[in-house]
Amino acid sequence: MLKFALAGNPNSGKTTLFNALTGSTAHVGNWPGVTVDKREGVYKKGSEPVDIVDLPGIYSLSPYTPEEVIARNFVLDEHPDCIINIVDATNLERNLYLTTQLMELDVPMVVALNMTDVLDKRGDTIDVRALEKRIGIPVVEISALKETNVDLLVERALEAVKTARTGETVLKDSLLGSAIANAEIALKLKGVEAPLFHAVKLVEKDEIEVKNHPAEAKAVEAFIAENLAGKRGEKIDAEAEIADARYKYITARFSSTLTRARKYSFDELSKSDKADKVLTNKWAGIPIFLVILFAIFHFTFSENLLFLGSIIPAFGEWCALECSAIKGVFFAGGLNSPGVILFNALDLLTSQIGEWLGAGLEALGASDAVLGLVCDGIWGGLSAVLSFLPQILVLSCSSPFWKIADIWRA
Ligand code: GDP
Ligand code: MG
Repeated sequence: MLKFALAGNPNSGKTTLFNALTGSTAHVGNWPGVTVDKREGVYKKGSEPVDIVDLPGIYSLSPYTPEEVIARNFVLDEHPDCIINIVDATNLERNLYLTTQLMELDVPMVVALNMTDVLDKRGDTIDVRALEKRIGIPVVEISALKETNVDLLVERALEAVKTARTGETVLKDSLLGSAIANAEIALKLKGVEAPLFHAVKLVEKDEIEVKNHPAEAKAVEAFIAENLAGKRGEKIDAEAEIADARYKYITARFSSTLTRARKYSFDELSKSDKADKVLTNKWAGIPIFLVILFAIFHFTFSENLLFLGSIIPAFGEWCALECSAIKGVFFAGGLNSPGVILFNALDLLTSQIGEWLGAGLEALGASDAVLGLVCDGIWGGLSAVLSFLPQILVLSCSSPFWKIADIWRA
């Protein structure tokens, strides 16, 4: 049976399309070893049945998140007969970034331009034929939600499967184009499958690629240093360079296929776009970043939370009153931050356990040497290591800040 993979950004409508295509045949499980949903089902309405797999939502094929690794390994190792790349038409540029990576694989591909109902409602239009010509891949306008054109989409994919496809890249004319071309030849000679895809990743210094092809990685690095870095008189950050080249190409060649009926006011933007507008604003971005960073450290290490001790003099006096051990956990000059409170509480606990341990051993008649070894050596050492734990925990759990941003964006 033919196997099609649905690939696209999170929230592009993959699962909605998957459900529209597979109906009741869907089987939901997990990808091996991780708690990432795996949906698989059969499309039966076409000229032949097709196995459909819903890949995790991803923004790129780099190996940084479990989702990326799963999607990448699937398209490379499981040899789907066709990739259906779902593109959220209301976020064309951002979504096409992944498209430019997927098209580097030697796999037949179809772009499903989704959310076209939203586009219609807004009065925006995309010149699909122009887009199709420029990407070099069939593009089908669909609405996964209203199930518009989903059968046509599969038909186009079934057509695409009939001819073998060789990967194409939008990076040919970029600064690193020649490095990619050379790496592609080297990998081809080595008999590597999907040489273009791997060549791009090798030039990006993708850790998996560099490990798999160390000799070629060295050659690429030498080539860049000798031939390309000089042009700039500086070191090249290949990954950033390539990401930049992709976006530039998308803006130059693909964006113009979209005609907006009008400019949108801030209130009409999606939450995600609103968050981006504020958080990545040219002027506000860095101050906001610094404030968040300060807040994270403040909540982790400060002994004067929210500066209460400084603002309310009585607060400081009250705290300075003879501190019981318990009170000392919470107050120093002012109120302690959660990080410091946990740090103190753990310290209190471990030293209490240490005391009990010492008393117990003494009662058993242990020698000074044994006492020193167990209490100061083993327990003391363990406590010292443990004592870092709360603040590290709070520091990384300060992700509440990011979580709030995430929830707001969702
Ligand atoms: P996934 O993360 O790619 O699996 O995206 P989902 O299938 O979960 O869809 C994300 C959201 O977009 C859901 O609220 C869907 O109802 C909505 N959605 C998906 N396709 C369409 C569409 O064609 N039109 C509209 N208006 N909404 C859609
Ligand atoms: Mg989904």
